[in-house]
Amino acid sequence: MRAASTTVPPLMQTRSKIVWPNIPKRHHDRPTNIGLQLPTKQAQSALPQYPAHTQEVGITLQRGGVCPIMEKGVSLERALELALHYPLSKQTETLLLEASRDRILAKQLSSKVDDPRFDNSAMDGFAVITSDCVNIGAELTIVGTSQTGGALPPRIATGEACRIMTGAPLPGGADAIVMIEETEVNGDQVIINGPARKGYIRKKAENLSIGQEALPMGTLLSSASIALAGTMGHGEIEVIKKPRIAILSTGDELVKPGTELEAGQIYESNSHALASLVESMGCEAVRHESANDSMDELRTTLDSLSDCDAILTSGGVSMGEWDLVRKIMEEEGDISFWRIKLRPGGPPLFGTWKGTPLFGLPGNPVSSLIVFHVLVAPWIARSLGYHPEMGPRLSQKVSVKLEEKVSGAPGKLCLRRIRIRTENGQLLATTHTHQGSGNMHSMVAHNGLTLLPPGTDGKAGEVIDALWLL
Ligand code: AMP
Ligand code: MG
Repeated sequence: MRAASTTVPPLMQTRSKIVWPNIPKRHHDRPTNIGLQLPTKQAQSALPQYPAHTQEVGITLQRGGVCPIMEKGVSLERALELALHYPLSKQTETLLLEASRDRILAKQLSSKVDDPRFDNSAMDGFAVITSDCVNIGAELTIVGTSQTGGALPPRIATGEACRIMTGAPLPGGADAIVMIEETEVNGDQVIINGPARKGYIRKKAENLSIGQEALPMGTLLSSASIALAGTMGHGEIEVIKKPRIAILSTGDELVKPGTELEAGQIYESNSHALASLVESMGCEAVRHESANDSMDELRTTLDSLSDCDAILTSGGVSMGEWDLVRKIMEEEGDISFWRIKLRPGGPPLFGTWKGTPLFGLPGNPVSSLIVFHVLVAPWIARSLGYHPEMGPRLSQKVSVKLEEKVSGAPGKLCLRRIRIRTENGQLLATTHTHQGSGNMHSMVAHNGLTLLPPGTDGKAGEVIDALWLL
């Protein structure tokens, strides 16, 4: 089975005290220690035939059987924990350094060399002996030149100096450098008009020693880190192979932007946001054209995407009759949870389709983006072992001072859009535009999300936790 992994520790089921014997699952093996256990055959047949989507004790009773492990209305933390039962599988590949920009290190990188490799000059000037240069106007004899990449320079003795270029090896005997601007050359003599500074010598291994780890596993190879990998002598880099993540928008009303709209149609936008977020998280986005609200079309399309490493759908996961992603996942997939205590972004589900992890994201454009930020991005990062600071990330947790009251949501983590700005070294947050979950403009007009705990409002002047969207 592709997605289930043994690397994630088993979770303890605490929600129910009912202990039922375990029986095999329908589509594929699952970790056996999560979720409620199925009743025996006799006990199953004795159960009343509830309609689908019953809220009772969080168990969904389905047509033709029981899906015993679905949890409903979970916290964001629990949602992530459940999704991590099915992490993205981590594969690696080796690339030339020049091809590894924006990829993620699969293994930590240590230096193959000392950096610098030898004592050298930080300035163009003269290598000297400090005690020869105590008096301004001292005259020294030039005995040679130290050039980068050239032969090793001669050793100097008292009364002597050696021309030196930035980065060239320090001659033996020298212990300081005088900048060229503070010297005057007269034949083979140099007059020292400025200070001889030891600080202009870059000492061997002052940056890195051989064997020192400088880039941890899970680092995003930015321009600086890729240069550091080169400095450390790595011509080839083992990186995480990009997982292929399918993106499927669902809804009869959706039309490709740029085409003519007919009555009742709208432009499809979610797949563009999701594809871009997926790629920012170091994965390959496999965008499929939107599917209609039809069980047959959804089944065929999901089947065709199940060779990807994960599937993100948007739309069709709420309570409505036409919310067919939820329906097909209930009837033919395996759902781990449905609905999260979040506002906005309450309706998502997570499960597997033919063994492939699937996030059913809400259709409302703001909600689908926000759920990606707070759930899917951490799931990718944790699955693949991204470094918390050096790896790809879309947001940063910060403390902000609210400039106005922001209301929270009873029983739900409230993610209001805020605009964060700095003033006198403090992060201040305000809101603009209305906060409807269909208002994509609000995601552009704002650059952060409140993290208001369930049932709490943010007062004007209060400092609260927030996510700064990067
Ligand atoms: P649903 O979750 O399918 O009920 O959709 C909720 C709202 O989001 C509806 O107004 C849809 O028209 C809208 N919506 C769903 N999917 C998309 C999409 N891919 N792009 C833009 N809007 C969407
Ligand atoms: Mg829909």
